[in-house]
Amino acid sequence: VNSEDTGLNDSPRHYCGLAAVYAPNKSNIPSQLFFTLFALQHRGQESAGIAYEKSDGEIVCYKNLGMVSQVLSHYLAEEKSSHVGIGHVRYSTKGGNKIENAQPISVNCTKGMVAIAHNGTISNADALKDKLFASGAIFQSTSDTELILHLISTSPAPDFYTSLKSVLRILEGAYSIVMIHEGRLILIRDPMGFRPLYLGKKDGSWFVASETCAFDIQQITDYREVEPGEITIIGPEGEKSERFANLPVRSECIFELIYFARPDSEIFGHSVHEFRKKIGARLAAVDKIEADMVIPVPDSGNSAALGYSQASGIPFEFGLTRNHYSGRSFIMPTQEQRELAIRIKLNPIKEMIRGKRIVMVDDSLVRGTTSGILVKLVREDGAKEIHLRLASPEILWPCFFGIDIPTRKELISNHLNSDQIAAKIGADSVRFLPLDQLKDIAKGSRGFCHACFSGEYPVKVTLKDE
Ligand code: SF4
Repeated sequence: VNSEDTGLNDSPRHYCGLAAVYAPNKSNIPSQLFFTLFALQHRGQESAGIAYEKSDGEIVCYKNLGMVSQVLSHYLAEEKSSHVGIGHVRYSTKGGNKIENAQPISVNCTKGMVAIAHNGTISNADALKDKLFASGAIFQSTSDTELILHLISTSPAPDFYTSLKSVLRILEGAYSIVMIHEGRLILIRDPMGFRPLYLGKKDGSWFVASETCAFDIQQITDYREVEPGEITIIGPEGEKSERFANLPVRSECIFELIYFARPDSEIFGHSVHEFRKKIGARLAAVDKIEADMVIPVPDSGNSAALGYSQASGIPFEFGLTRNHYSGRSFIMPTQEQRELAIRIKLNPIKEMIRGKRIVMVDDSLVRGTTSGILVKLVREDGAKEIHLRLASPEILWPCFFGIDIPTRKELISNHLNSDQIAAKIGADSVRFLPLDQLKDIAKGSRGFCHACFSGEYPVKVTLKDE
């Protein structure tokens, strides 16, 4: 349940989605960025923005708090001819929901005019910032993105590209980056490949998106993944790629496949929908429950619930209707208001669930607050039994690589086992996907991060809330 929409803040959240276009023959770049960002809206709903380069080399940057359709739709009615542009959608996490933290960021620095947008978290950002502060640097935002620009600008290297590569060598953590510099588009993916980034081509132009679902809108079928540790520069001379790092093992975020990415995307070599169906089938295989129907918590539980149903033979039904227009940013101080918020967002179809034994499939459990209310509502509307099944293992650890997960103390699975959680939230039973089953589904993949479930971090991290 993405309860950010209800103010309950009970889901992990990712930071951002990225878009970019390079067109050798000038075209209406802002409108193309609009369509890509529109398809990536699920990756960030707090702010949206674009930057594109005009003929005179000036970079125009336009961004605001709000959804893509609110902030950028005027570009559909305006012709803004350009060769190159980048775009961004963002959640407010680090630094809060402030316009200063919206992206892209565009500056004129010692290495020329640069615009940048970034998805991920620089895990050594605090240490790098401390050094810059000590030397007198001033930051306008709390985002890691501004830090990257500072590092490039203050680099002693003589030119932009040497500076950029020297900065990449000291950055740690998760970052997919798109940049504009002197009429060229630059794409970068961190050496461990935590966050996805895709590069497509159509009619001689290059298109970039965090997820492939954005390419479908523009009928781009020729695309590839930007490789971990790859930097690609696209300009009048074409496309040039090189590796700035070459690690033997990837750490692609498995939560992208479980929850964050859209089911119609291909991520890390997997169809997201198919991967989630396999998760549902595994949940069913380790579950010997008798029930009348399987219902998803829409939309994030849909694919896993279908997989569960097909593997178990228990009929799939839509027992909850999601209101896609319920908006967000409610403040819900009382339990009554929180229940109303869930009911606005997810309303049980009483005729379907009354008197039924239900398997309810959701993506993950963070604090358990949203699920507790949902179980109560489904029970009040007549369900006889409610068996909650989670399409992920227990979340036990924080993420340092671009996902906003609460502290260990706040994570319900650090305090209660499945049976205790069931008792607390009022379900007849609760079961998680075992971690070994998740690893088995991902077997043959190129290397996943699963640290929020296992505590096995792919790089050294400092746990603060122990
Ligand atoms: S810790 Fe979890 S959410 Fe963070 S990158 Fe790893 S798998 Fe993804």
